Amino acid sequence: MNQFLRGTQHNLSSIDILWGLTDQSPQEEICEKAFQLISECQYISVSMVSNGHPESRVIDLQRLKDGRMIFITSKYKPFYQQLCKCPEIVACLPIDTWFMIRVRAFVKEVSEDQAIRDEYFEANPGTKLMYRNNLSAVAFFVLEKGEGEMFHLYNSERVRRVRFGFGGLTPWPLTYSISYQCVGCGICQENCAEQAIFKGSDGKYHISHMDCDDCGICYTKCPNAGTALLSRLEAYEEDKRNCDPVRFQPAVPTGRVSGHHYAQNCPGGGGEPGPGHLFF
Ligand code: SF4
Ligand code: SF4
Repeated sequence: MNQFLRGTQHNLSSIDILWGLTDQSPQEEICEKAFQLISECQYISVSMVSNGHPESRVIDLQRLKDGRMIFITSKYKPFYQQLCKCPEIVACLPIDTWFMIRVRAFVKEVSEDQAIRDEYFEANPGTKLMYRNNLSAVAFFVLEKGEGEMFHLYNSERVRRVRFGFGGLTPWPLTYSISYQCVGCGICQENCAEQAIFKGSDGKYHISHMDCDDCGICYTKCPNAGTALLSRLEAYEEDKRNCDPVRFQPAVPTGRVSGHHYAQNCPGGGGEPGPGHLFF
C-alpha cells in the first residue's frame, strides 16, 4: 500500500488545505483568493520571453478598487518594450513553506486611463514622488486575462492543486485524462504516483484534478494509452509554439520590435524608442 495515503502523515483538516478551496469551488472564489495572496506578496519576480530568450523582472502587483491586478514600469525600460512586443508574463510565487501560486497572464496597457493613474498615485505617493519630473513616463499594465493554479505541497509527499482562469479564460486542463474507452482494468490506479485515480460508479476510472501531479506514469502503464488514457503533451507543445491561439491570443501582433513597428503595435502607443533603448 502506498505509504503516502492522504491523512496518514499530517493532521491537517480539509480547511487547512488550500483554504478549503476545491476544484468544485466557484472560479471567482479561487481567483479572488489567488489575487489576494499575490497582492500581499508585493514584489514578485515575473518571467517573459524576449526575442526567444527568457527574461525576468521584479514587479509590484497591486489591486485596483475594481479587483484587477495592476503594475507599473517606465516607458523607457526594456521591460516596457518587451511587454509591448509580447504582453504575456508568468510567475511562480512561494506563499510559504507549503503553498505556491503559479499565474500566467496577458497584460494590457492602461496608461491613458486617468482614473487608474489617479487611484494608483494616491495609493503610492512614493512612486509619484519618484517620477515627479516626468509622470508621463509611467506605464500602467493590468492583468487582462490568464490562468493559474494554487498548490498545496504538504510534507513534501503529495500535491493538491486548484486551477483558475480569469478575464474570460478557462483553467489550464490536466495533461492526462481518461476517456469513455477505459476498460476498467485498474492498472493506472495501481501505478498512480499520487493516488489521484479512483473508480467511478460507471466502472470506469477517473482522475481527481486536485490530486494529479501531471507526472504521466498512468499513461506509460495503461494498456490502452492513446484511446483510454489520453495525453495533451502534443497539444501542449503546440499551444506553446502558437501562444495558444484559441485561448491566449496576444493582444497585439508579435514581431520584430523596432521604430515604426514598435510604435504601431504598442498597446499604449508610446512613440518611437529613443536612442538609449536597448533590445535584449
Ligand atoms: S489503465 Fe487504462 S484502461 Fe485500465 S483502468 Fe486505467 S485508463 Fe482504464
Ligand atoms: S499523471 Fe501521475 S498523478 Fe496524475 S493520475 Fe497519472 S499517475 Fe496519477
